[in-house]
Amino acid sequence: MLTTRGHIIDGAGYAKSLRDRLAEHVSSLQEVSGKTPCLVVVIVGEDPASQIYVKNKGEQTQAIGMESRTLRLPDTTSEAELLRLVDELNRDPVVNGILVQLPLPAHMSSLKVIDAINPDKDVDGFHVTNAGRLAVGLDGIVPCTPLGSLMLLKDAAEKFGDTLRGKNAVIVGRSNIVGKPMAQLLLAQDCTVTIAHSRTQNLAEVCRSADILVAAVGRAHFIKGDWVKDSAYVIDVGINRIQVETPEGSKSKVVGDVDFEAAKANALAITPVPKGVGPMTIACLLNNTIKAFCLQNGLAIPDGV
Ligand code: NDP
Repeated sequence: MLTTRGHIIDGAGYAKSLRDRLAEHVSSLQEVSGKTPCLVVVIVGEDPASQIYVKNKGEQTQAIGMESRTLRLPDTTSEAELLRLVDELNRDPVVNGILVQLPLPAHMSSLKVIDAINPDKDVDGFHVTNAGRLAVGLDGIVPCTPLGSLMLLKDAAEKFGDTLRGKNAVIVGRSNIVGKPMAQLLLAQDCTVTIAHSRTQNLAEVCRSADILVAAVGRAHFIKGDWVKDSAYVIDVGINRIQVETPEGSKSKVVGDVDFEAAKANALAITPVPKGVGPMTIACLLNNTIKAFCLQNGLAIPDGV
């Protein structure tokens, strides 16, 4: 039975069911094509958080029956060397998806490296061609975190017999990888979209106008409970590591951009951190790799991908 407030959106559960569906697609695609979708993840340097993300991506790719390759380069790699590797992967017919893990070391331009990836293999959906396709409403590869957030929102609305159409959506954060594509996706769902950022005035008031509030700021507990409108949908994209004091001493903890407990009291439905948007990001990466594989091999894209 659904309560009218504080429904927790189970991102981890949704991601698991999505991965199960994708595993079935991989198996049927192998049957019809005799090939296995292949995702290559390139990581440069030793950033600890990136190492964990890349390990998880590799494991989950294999778990649904796809081929996973991880190429680890030292942070002394030059930009020219990385661009040469991307070019080789672009031309390798076995490789369907290429993901260059961000952030890159400071001596490299991530925009230049992303621009070098063949848009058909750009499973992160960050290439300007895919960003442009999304902006003009053409089918393309959509960035994973906003795509996963939209899936959770649609599913939550459906559970309440509701629709996203016509709702006021406020996105806090305007990055190319989360805020801007999220805005495009919600616009395409007929929401009225506001993108807020660090220069936005009266941010609390802007947030209070949101039927759908998406936080992609990168600051722990930045969105306060009383910024959340009564019965709003809240999607917390933030991943922030903080130190908390416990009887056993100081411990590190991952929290979102939203003050979860306070916001939950007002929200109709809200994603937790962890186990909210995070697991959806990798599941959508697998989704995008299957889509890229189908497009490259002239195969029908399975329903829902
Ligand atoms: P960026 O740092 O690229 O963007 C942050 C945005 O927040 C900017 O647009 C910035 O505004 C805005 N902002 C910063 N401070 C304020 C403020 N005081 N008031 C209003 N807006 C502010 O971050 P990302 O988009 O890459 O990531 C956002 C968060 O999402 C991070 O915590 C990140 O770890 C997490 N993330 C989670 C993923 C997942 O899988 N769950 C995937 C990707 C990111 P301005 O443009 O004016 O500087």
